[in-house]
Amino acid sequence: MTKITPQPGIMDIALYVGGKSHVDGVSNVIKLSSNENPFGPSPAAQEAVRRSALDLHRYPPTDHADLRAAIAAAHGLDADRIICGVGSDEILTLLCQAYAGPGDEVIHTEHGFAIYRIGAQSVGATPIEVPERERVTDVDAILAACTDATRLVFLANPNNPTGTMIGLAEVERLAGGLPDQALLVLDGAYAEYVDGYDGGARLVEARDNVVMTRTFSKLYGLGGMRVGWGYGPQDVVDVLNRIRGPFNLSSTALAAAEAALGDTAYVERSRSENTRLRAWLAEALAEHGVPSDASCANFILARFGSQDEAEACDTYLQSQGVIVRRVTSYKLPNALRITVGDEASCRRVAHCIGQFKAGAR
Ligand code: PMP
Repeated sequence: MTKITPQPGIMDIALYVGGKSHVDGVSNVIKLSSNENPFGPSPAAQEAVRRSALDLHRYPPTDHADLRAAIAAAHGLDADRIICGVGSDEILTLLCQAYAGPGDEVIHTEHGFAIYRIGAQSVGATPIEVPERERVTDVDAILAACTDATRLVFLANPNNPTGTMIGLAEVERLAGGLPDQALLVLDGAYAEYVDGYDGGARLVEARDNVVMTRTFSKLYGLGGMRVGWGYGPQDVVDVLNRIRGPFNLSSTALAAAEAALGDTAYVERSRSENTRLRAWLAEALAEHGVPSDASCANFILARFGSQDEAEACDTYLQSQGVIVRRVTSYKLPNALRITVGDEASCRRVAHCIGQFKAGAR
């Protein structure tokens, strides 16, 4: 045992637990636990990864200029105000490092993403959990929770694991009502699944207290590559660039992301299949007596009558080789989060839940 001790509060941080990918003794599993793109990576991204192997002895660029230019062109943004990170997780964590510390408060919603809390605690700030209204962000509750110590307000829109979202007018009202010293972080990890939604980019441009984060892990099918980005006021981006690792993104990751961005056919197919199968899955589960909130993302939150029933269903699904996500740590003990897979996976999970509801154990 070392004699050195970690900073106060570090040992209070709950370890992030990712989605399972296997079940002991069960083969041929389908993984619907991490909101990954069921179509795998785009062929263009795979080819870019192969090509990047020729230059693995070289350091990657530190400024991510090519990827930022490609993102700016694809989304109609100012490339200078984009920062790239090792997943959007890194951007969220950098924001905590840069703007919060002991004595400061960091707001997140009741069923908000785990990294907000971890990021706040890792810099000694106090995470403040704000209740939601029936699994939907409550702007009034957030505004009421703000104090002179509030530095960051994290809002995932759509939210994980609920799948719900609030409209732009509500987000605007939130940004407009924050105290001067606070920044709104609009986490758009699932924004691409919402038709016509720019993730809050126009709001970032209209205001000086909003940062938007996005990812290549979901619609773009690159969870394993770890590429995310943020778009914010110039001075915030400048601050974050000073504290990130200079070579945070590998050349392989940069190449893959740029190629994925350009593969619009893959992106469109992923989006439209998700929309179609999400509706199908929600309806199939409802027919089996399992309701869910209208989801705007690539997963649905299936609700059961009790924690025991949700647990029993999870165990049954695992025995059938279907892995979904328990969300007890998100204060949703009666629910299971199910990623919208490809058609065969959706049919299989719906069939298994039907069998479970019919008494199979
Ligand atoms: N925000 C939300 C709401 C998420 O669900 C996730 C992924 N689980 C992330 C951010 C982080 O994604 P990544 O680091 O892969 O970009």
